[in-house]
Formats: sequence, C-alpha cells, structure tokens
Amino acid sequence: MAGGLITAPGRGLRIGADVLQIFSKQNTRWMGKALEEEEARAFREESDRTGIRTVAIHCAYLINLASAKEAVRTRSLYALEDEASRAAMLGVPYLVMHPGSSGDDPEETGERRLSSALRTFGRLPRGVTLLLENTAGQGNSIGRSIGQLRRLIDACGDPPDVAVCLDSAHLFEAGYDIAGERGWKRLLGELSRHGVLPLVRMWHLNDSKTPLGSRVDRHFHIGEGQIGLPGFRRILNHRDFRRLPMVLETPKDGGDEFERDRKNLAALRSLCAGRDREQ
Ligand SMILES: [Zn+2]
Repeated sequence: MAGGLITAPGRGLRIGADVLQIFSKQNTRWMGKALEEEEARAFREESDRTGIRTVAIHCAYLINLASAKEAVRTRSLYALEDEASRAAMLGVPYLVMHPGSSGDDPEETGERRLSSALRTFGRLPRGVTLLLENTAGQGNSIGRSIGQLRRLIDACGDPPDVAVCLDSAHLFEAGYDIAGERGWKRLLGELSRHGVLPLVRMWHLNDSKTPLGSRVDRHFHIGEGQIGLPGFRRILNHRDFRRLPMVLETPKDGGDEFERDRKNLAALRSLCAGRDREQ
C-alpha cells in the first residue's frame, strides 16, 4: 500500500517480480475508502503495462470469523465482502485470509463459529477465489493442520469457492518439519489424504525465525532461518507446485527498500536451476 495501490506493479518490477500480493487498503482498518472504478482501471492498466500480475489480495488482519464476539464476526463478514469486491474490481483472482482465532475459547469452539460464518457468507464475485491460509497456531489461531483446513473447506458448502494458500514458515512453526525430507513427505501425505493437494493454489515462501513447532509466527529471510534452502528447493520443484504463484512475505529490514526482496528472490530462483523459468 505504500505510495498507493497504483505504484504496486511498478515496485514489483523494480525487484524483478513476476507476481504480487497486495493489501487493497490499510491492513489495520476494518473498511477502506471506497474503491473508484477509475482507480481500479488505472491499476489494471498499470499491471498490463508492467507485466506484473497481482495474484492475491491479503485480507486485513482484523478479520476474525472465529471470534467469540458476534459483533466482530459480523464486521468481519462485511469486511470480507468488501475485500472480495475490491479483488473483482482490480482483476485479482485470489483473496487470502487467515482463518481466525478462537481467543480464550477452545479451538473447536472457534472452528465451529468459523464454519458457520463461512456457511452464511454469500458467493464470491465471479473470478475471485477465497484462499484459506494455514497458520502457525499462535494464540489459538485456527488452521494449523491440514486436517483442520479440510474441515473448514467442507463447512463452506457446495460448490466451495474456497481453496488453500500454504505458508512455509507457518507450516514449520506449526510442527511440519519441511526442513527435512521426512517432514516434507509427511506433509505431502496429509495433503493427499485429506484431498487438499489439488486445492493448493498459492504459496507464501518465508523462512522461519522460530524453531519447529514453536507456534510463534516470525517470518525470516530465505535460507537464513530454521527451514533453510533445501526445504525451499523441494517446494519450488515439486510437480504439483512449480507452476503456482508464490510470494515472499519476508521482513523489509535494513538498507535499500528493495535490496532484501531482490536477494530473497535470487535465493529462491537459484534453487530452480535446471529448468527454464516459466513466466
Ligand atoms: Zn503468509
């Protein structure tokens, strides 16, 4: 959002990105200023000009459909609808949402509230798919296991406009040891057993600053955290994932605003050697 929506594709170009994930408004606000068609068209034109495709809008962090407070759940539903209509206007296919947190209540209670909220949520605009993101499990956040994501998808009714975005740091922090071959196999096994593998539409590629199973969500630079490069090589080159859009959510610390992003991108691309990069 820095510098306004319209600058996002150009900033993506400056780091050499192919795809982008954006916030469509201030991510700490319930509602943003209404998006004008003129602004949306300018954004779509800028995307065409730069060739940078915005694949996802990340929902505001306030949205919590699992909250104990009915008022929060209601506001969350309105906010989600608002995000979905922005996505449609901007020509963005995916809306990424953290499933939410049960707060002080047991996880199952939150999961139940979330499921019923998702059931009442109307259909998404044409061309927009809601992606539930797996979580680290911090603070009773829901969605730290593949089985739990499956149950949420099932709760959305039929046919669901809902699929999944996997975050590498969250997987690791939730206890999936994707740093090693055994943990990776375990993840793939769960994804296929629960029928979630074909629903994975996108990856967030972040290394983790915190250890395996910490349930503490701290993203870190690629190859400099607890996951390490071999873990990312497996994700990038897996036959079911290699064509999916993948985005970085790594820290923006230090020096040139764009330098760290470029470095993280280069680290990832070096792991894809041996095949042509597909645009
Ligand atoms: Zn993420």
